[in-house]
Amino acid sequence: MNITDITDRFKDNAHKVSKKVIWHWTGGNTASGAIKWLDDREDVDGDGIGDGTIAYNYIIDKNGDVYMLGNPKNTWFHNTGLGSEYDKDTISISLVCRGKKDSFTEAQIESSKRLYSVLKCLYQIEINTHHASINLHKQDFPDKTWVDFKKKII
Ligand SMILES: [Zn+2]
Repeated sequence: MNITDITDRFKDNAHKVSKKVIWHWTGGNTASGAIKWLDDREDVDGDGIGDGTIAYNYIIDKNGDVYMLGNPKNTWFHNTGLGSEYDKDTISISLVCRGKKDSFTEAQIESSKRLYSVLKCLYQIEINTHHASINLHKQDFPDKTWVDFKKKII
């Protein structure tokens, strides 16, 4: 079967897929550490290799490098703790950061801004928020930081 891609001719009329963007921070110092931790965390089939069912679509390292763990076009991860029904429409992004005593780098802010603008082109973003705002057990982004961050990336 041959599929000819003419989506460009219709992209202005096509309905974008609705997504919720959920921002997190990793709690560690490096992207490689976060990726290893997520990979090791769940081993559903018992083969000794993590299955990565809990993860993020993107991880943004301190130097601004962005790692895509799953393309949001066809991939979602458990990331909010609110269950599959909620998470299946999410695009999850985590910034490498140790938390309140640490801060995001300028390079991370710049990459977040660029990534968010790309996502806005590709998807209808219904919600753009941080983990703690939807799951009160989490302490992601102390409120002031989130408001500042959101202003910088939009
Ligand atoms: Zn989180």
